[in-house]
Amino acid sequence: MVCGDAKDGVAKMRTVSERLEGASEREKTMPLPRGRGQGEGDGSRVRRPSRRLMACCLSLLAVAGGLCASGMGVAQNRVVVCIDPGHPSEVGPGTRGLTITELHAAWVTALLLKERLETAGLTVVLTKGREKQKVFNRKRAETANRAAASLMVRLHCDASSGSGYAIYFPDRMGTHQGHRGPSKQIQVASRAAAKAFHDAFALKIGRRLRDNGLLPDIRTAIGSRYGALIGSIYSEVPVILIEMCTLTNAHDDAFMASKEGQAAMADALAAGTLAALAGGKPPPAPKPVKRPAKPEPEQGE
Ligand SMILES: [Zn+2]
Repeated sequence: MVCGDAKDGVAKMRTVSERLEGASEREKTMPLPRGRGQGEGDGSRVRRPSRRLMACCLSLLAVAGGLCASGMGVAQNRVVVCIDPGHPSEVGPGTRGLTITELHAAWVTALLLKERLETAGLTVVLTKGREKQKVFNRKRAETANRAAASLMVRLHCDASSGSGYAIYFPDRMGTHQGHRGPSKQIQVASRAAAKAFHDAFALKIGRRLRDNGLLPDIRTAIGSRYGALIGSIYSEVPVILIEMCTLTNAHDDAFMASKEGQAAMADALAAGTLAALAGGKPPPAPKPVKRPAKPEPEQGE
């Protein structure tokens, strides 16, 4: 079912971790963030997830599965994540670097992320069906709402004199064409998701890209105009936007244009998404294996 939660005001307000815990037949989704400069952008491609990523996914799924089993005893636990590859939209076609456009970078990365999340057992919806499909940001949010996503992850690239990535979330209501949003509950849930996402993403991407931190939508050009990003204003699910890198920076452009960089970006995005879905809780530490100080005599038969 895709629309149940979107029409259920109570369920919509649930935090990501709560939804992971209680989900039975509900779907869960998350969209992507956007950046300092423009605000709302996109890119795509697919690759086999690394073993480390798989191990991380399995650990987090074990957490989710354990919570589900202990809470509801429900076997099925569909979690929906909405990935929003930015641009083209009413904001424009997106920025471009020396070798890759924001549009392509976001699309390629979205497809790689989709593959990773599906491998981890999540259900993924995209806000558009092809790279150059123009979709208004309101429609993008409505896709996540209809899917009752646990999280909407919005993928963009920035343009500035700086470099690196930044994660954005709505910290207040904005107004766009007379519509006000998101609700306080969604603001709170988005902030928590953004924090968990940022920490896991930063850990995974390491020093490959500069970390510009966690920032409110209002710090973007579009957010400063409307109070929040347009996609956030219409969102009824937790929403974050990531400016994955700064394409006007030569290093970032080369990173984002390379297959290795795209795979590393997708790995980090997946780690961030899974952390946000788990409520920022780290996977359980493995139980220490008790080993006797001295080898025990064999029991034999
Ligand atoms: Zn953008």
